[in-house]
Amino acid sequence: MPLKLRFLLTNACSARCTYCHNEGQQKARDRLDLAAIGHVLDTLAEGGVNVSEIVLSGGEPTLHPQLADIARRCKASGAQVSINTHAGHPTKLAPALPWLDELKIHVDSFDPQRQRASMGIGIAKVRQSIALAQRHGQAQRFINHPLQSLDEACAVITEARALAVDVKLIELLDTAGGKPLLHQLPWAELGYQPAGQGHWQHRHGTHRVLTRRCGQGGSEGGELFIGPDGVRRDLQAPILGMPEAFSLDMLPAACGAGQTRKDTGSIHANARNMIRLTRDAWSAMVLHDRRQACPTPLPVQRSA
Ligand code: SF4
Repeated sequence: MPLKLRFLLTNACSARCTYCHNEGQQKARDRLDLAAIGHVLDTLAEGGVNVSEIVLSGGEPTLHPQLADIARRCKASGAQVSINTHAGHPTKLAPALPWLDELKIHVDSFDPQRQRASMGIGIAKVRQSIALAQRHGQAQRFINHPLQSLDEACAVITEARALAVDVKLIELLDTAGGKPLLHQLPWAELGYQPAGQGHWQHRHGTHRVLTRRCGQGGSEGGELFIGPDGVRRDLQAPILGMPEAFSLDMLPAACGAGQTRKDTGSIHANARNMIRLTRDAWSAMVLHDRRQACPTPLPVQRSA
């Protein structure tokens, strides 16, 4: 079964959202090191585990000084790599863009005052990040918008469509306090029609709005949350160990929990591992070449 990894790169965040759960992390340590990430990926590759998706999250992942190296290392594993960011630091995000398949930008409002009041982030910087991603990356771009007001959601969808960026609309779990629901949005009035489960498409063009409830989703196989304070199978689950000491025993049952390297020591498993490692090396080499050939130089990252 495929495995989804969520690397929670740092506890730190320069935004201040009132509903933040900060991915359930403790504050004992601040950052997840590139070396620890490399150890996790090497261990999984040697065990023949299929990592289908890697999410770089936090806190705010662009505050991690090794973000670009981490994104490149993750991409070399052969997995799809995405990032969850508030995009308020475009120059920190830019160096990672060539290694990303998906860029998910959390926006509460495109109105400068309301965005500042809600998240403490300037929307002008967010627009710069979107423009950089459109110029320099091939990552698919999404605006992640937590549904708090129908009017605001309508405004965000309209603005995102003008920017040619798809939207992921998230219904918050706390709807008892009068928070709106996804089905209350005036979809037809906005010009959107259903195109599948949780999928709306504008009747003119290809602009999409994907919807889900907070906490819904997840991967078909297993999922691991790996942060500076430890490895967990769920945000609320107990810590299984530190990332530097990651072992195959920490895997969810769906991905072969308890499977040790000795268990995969057959000639077939070793052949699979060899093919995977060769593919990863090839993928890293091709990506490196593509980056060298990029005709438009990336902006220089300023110091943190
Ligand atoms: S941007 Fe994300 S991590 Fe940062 S305060 Fe807001 S919800 Fe929390």
